[in-house]
Amino acid sequence: MTELTADEREAYAWQMTVPGVGESGQRKLKAASVLVSRVGGLGGVAAYELAAAGVGRLILAHAGNIKPGDLNRQLLMTHAAIGTPRVACAARRLRELNPRVEVVAVPENVTPENAPRLVSLADVVVDAAPLFEERLALNAAAVRLGKPLVEAAVYELTAQVTTVLPGRTACLACRVPEVPADWTRRFPVFGAVSGAAGSFAAAEVIKLVTGVGEPLADRLLACDLRDMRFRVFRTRRRPGCPVCNPGPGAPPTRDP
Ligand SMILES: [Zn+2]
Repeated sequence: MTELTADEREAYAWQMTVPGVGESGQRKLKAASVLVSRVGGLGGVAAYELAAAGVGRLILAHAGNIKPGDLNRQLLMTHAAIGTPRVACAARRLRELNPRVEVVAVPENVTPENAPRLVSLADVVVDAAPLFEERLALNAAAVRLGKPLVEAAVYELTAQVTTVLPGRTACLACRVPEVPADWTRRFPVFGAVSGAAGSFAAAEVIKLVTGVGEPLADRLLACDLRDMRFRVFRTRRRPGCPVCNPGPGAPPTRDP
C-alpha cells in the first residue's frame, strides 16, 4: 500500500494518534476511493471531512448550477460562484482544503443508468441525495457490486444515518421498497442539521476504511435536534427485498 510522505505524516498527525488508526490506518485512507452522491448540505460536509481526513480519491456526483437558495446549507458552494456548476465549485473548495487528495468531479446526479459505473469506481459509497429515485438506484448498484454504502438523510430538524454492508445487513430497499408518493423535491432543512448528518456519514466512512470502531450495520441512528434525542433502531433484511434477493439471472451479491 502507498507509503505516507513526510508532509502527509505532519498533515494527519492529530488523527493518526487516535487509537487503532496509526500509520496503517492513514495509509488505508490514502488508498481509498469514496463516491459521494450529491455534495449539497449533507454530502458536501461529508466530502469536506473526508478530504480533510486524507481519503485519497473523492468522486463527487452532482448536477446543476449553484442557486442562491443552496447557500443556507451547501457549505462547499460560495456566493461568488452562484450560477456556475456545483460540482466544479465543490471540487475547487476540496482542493483548496487538501491538495493531496484527488477529486473527480462528475456533473451528473445518480440514475439507474450511471449508478453501476460510478459505484464501480469507489471502495465505499455515501448516499446524500434528496430524491428516493437516486437513493434507490445507488443502493441497488452498491449492493450488486458489493460496496459498503453509508446512507444519510435529513428532514427539518431530524437526521438519520445507517450503513449498508451488502449481503450482510439490511439495504435501503429493505426499509423503503419504492419511492414514497408524498415526497417533495424541496423540503425544510437547516444547514446545521444536514451538516451534522454529513459529519456522522464521514465518520462512518472513516471507520469502514480504517477498521476503527463499529459501523451502524443493521442499526439506524435517528437524531431529533429539536430536543437533542438520539436513538438507535435495529434494522433487518426484508426477505422479499428484490435488491438483497435478486432473482435467477441477476448478478450475484458479493459478500465483503
Ligand atoms: Zn434489501
